Amino acid sequence: MKEAGEARRVREILDILARTYPEARTALLFETPFQLLVAAILSAQTTDRQVNRITRQLFARYREPEDFARLTPEELAREIRGCGLYKNKSRHIIAASRILVEKYGSRVPESLEELQRLPGVGRKTANVVLNVAFGRPALPVDTHVLRVARRLGLARGKTPQKVEEELLAVIPEEERRDAHHRLIAHGRAVCKAVRPRCGTCSLSHLCPGRQN
Ligand code: SF4
Repeated sequence: MKEAGEARRVREILDILARTYPEARTALLFETPFQLLVAAILSAQTTDRQVNRITRQLFARYREPEDFARLTPEELAREIRGCGLYKNKSRHIIAASRILVEKYGSRVPESLEELQRLPGVGRKTANVVLNVAFGRPALPVDTHVLRVARRLGLARGKTPQKVEEELLAVIPEEERRDAHHRLIAHGRAVCKAVRPRCGTCSLSHLCPGRQN
């Protein structure tokens, strides 16, 4: 009985998120899975807007893994210096590009395990590539998803991987892609890290974490 009530609550949360953020998508600009991979690596500790500012120029000059594999870390670092940790990211992108050229025929692999073996690609970035570039039912957990899911009582775990596991257990496979983007949208617009807007939140009647 209790489980049925919880399933109904989750269903209602997903429905409200779908109505509130029907068009929620990634803000990152890209044309190919490889470009999305590069953009996702660049986005660590950098806003999507800043990444787009950089990649608009970057992808006009370098499009394919071969183009990046030929660069030196110093050359690429000059192109991406507007984002945080740009020296590390430069090394990672070049190393990942070389692996793609040598091992994958310049294609981006479509499995979580293979993606995570690429330099600079952690679990969240790998899941972003699967979700956004390949349309897989992956549910990347970033800081917004982690916070909103915990406040809403959809997850209790403290680590992104634990929260991901809990979300996968309650969100139907066909809704995971969109749920990821909608939880982020809600975290940015309403369920902010500091002073969430619980008073105007459309989920407040379903939320054990509401604060006022
Ligand atoms: S009620 Fe508050 S804590 Fe809960 S989801 Fe809405 S904004 Fe976040």
